[in-house]
Parts: sequence; structure tokens; C-alpha cells
Amino acid sequence: MRKPIIAANWKMFKTPEEAISLVNELKRLLSQVRAEVVICPPFVDIPGVMEALRGTDLKVGAQNMHWEAEGAYTGEISPPMLRALGCTYVIIGHSERRQYFNETDEIVNKKVRAAFAHGLKPILCVGETLEEREAGITASRVEGQVRKGLEHLSSDNVQDLVIAYEPVWAIGTGKTASAEDAEKVISHIRQVLNEMFGERIGAQIRIQYGGSVKPDNIKELMKKPNIDGALVGGASLKADSFSKIACYSVE
Ligand code: 13P
Repeated sequence: MRKPIIAANWKMFKTPEEAISLVNELKRLLSQVRAEVVICPPFVDIPGVMEALRGTDLKVGAQNMHWEAEGAYTGEISPPMLRALGCTYVIIGHSERRQYFNETDEIVNKKVRAAFAHGLKPILCVGETLEEREAGITASRVEGQVRKGLEHLSSDNVQDLVIAYEPVWAIGTGKTASAEDAEKVISHIRQVLNEMFGERIGAQIRIQYGGSVKPDNIKELMKKPNIDGALVGGASLKADSFSKIACYSVE
């Protein structure tokens, strides 16, 4: 069985001090949580968050990284640096990075491979724009992102992969894909993974939904057989809403 994974993407919010106070609250609220919980703060917050979460089961991830281990790349952060801080996960290819920082599928693929090479678990983000959805090309668009993002990887590599299906039109807009729509795209992604890596591995890879996930829609999403968790933006910035999402119940 796949263990549900609920991840917080704080994006460019929270100073180091604010970050520590939020995780201290979360620690208290999430002491009994059953899902795997991952907090992805801005880079500068990571040491403080890591320290505050020591001794808990909550994991820490980064929101991006470079693919090289080191080099003259001003302003970039490398996989070994994230490992040295104790990060477990790294978000790769978020639509905001694709959209505002010109990350292509080729770059995303380099980063995913670098994550595995350095012992980090990538959360690979894919998703269609509104235009693509309206043009009826959601499935092929998302399939292309998955296939290109995972090029040159073998089934030995990808067991720890997490995919986040985040329709771009649902991010930060308050519009969510219906649980049925999300399940449809996510089960297509699983089929693609089965073709690429075999059904045994395809059945192990966790696929999250992201895009305006809130305490009141998590339950319907998590009832779906192929949806294994959520990548949460806005609602992860408050302890109350994020803990309600992470402690969802499907009963
Ligand atoms: P929102 O939850 O704010 O829509 O953001 C989703 C997201 O982009 C998570 O990575």
C-alpha cells in the first residue's frame, strides 16, 4: 500500500523566525498524523525548520535546486547542500518555475536525475494550463511532461519518486479540479508509469494532487484510489488549515 504524503509548499513566504513559529505549532497539531508530512520552506528557513522538527516524523524538502553538485552558478543551491542540511525531498518543475523561470522539461529531467543521484526524493510537478485543458489536450500534455521529466531513469531509480499533478489553472485561484477530474488525470499518469517502469513500480509511486487544496476538499480527493496525497500552497501557511488537511479522514 502507498503511504499518503501531504506536502506543504510555502513558496516565497515566511522569514526564518516566522517559519520556526509555524513549525512549532505544526509539531503540536501533527503529533498523531498518519500520513507522511513534508514541509518545503524557502532555502533560508531550512536550517531553523530542521532544528525545530528534530525528533519528529515530519520531513523537510526544498522547493528547487540546481542539477550540478557545485560550480560557478551564482545564486543557485546544489543537491549536496540540501542533503547536508538534512532535506529528504525536493520539489522539481513546479509550474511557477516553468512559467516564470523558463524551466523546460529538459531542465526538469536533469534536476530529477540529480535528485536521485544525490539521495533526494524528487516531487516532480506536472499539469496543464487552462488553454491546454480547454483545447482538450490535458492527458497528452501531462503525459509528455511525465515522460520527458523521467527520461533516462530506470525502474531501480524511481521507487521513491513522487509526482504532483497540479493543474496550473487551479493554483492559487480557489478553483480546484473536481476529485473525479483529478483522479482521471492521475490514473492516466499511473498508466504511463506502468508502461515506463512496469506495473510493480507503477503501483508504488505516489501521485499527489495540488491546486487550491483546502480542509474542505481534501477528503473527497483522498477517497480516490489513485490520489495518494496533496501538495498544498496557500493553505499550508497556517497551522490550523494545514494540520486539518494533513489529518484528513476519509470516513
Ligand atoms: P495553492 O494550494 O495555493 O493553490 O498552491 C498549490 C501549489 O502550487 C502547491 O505547489
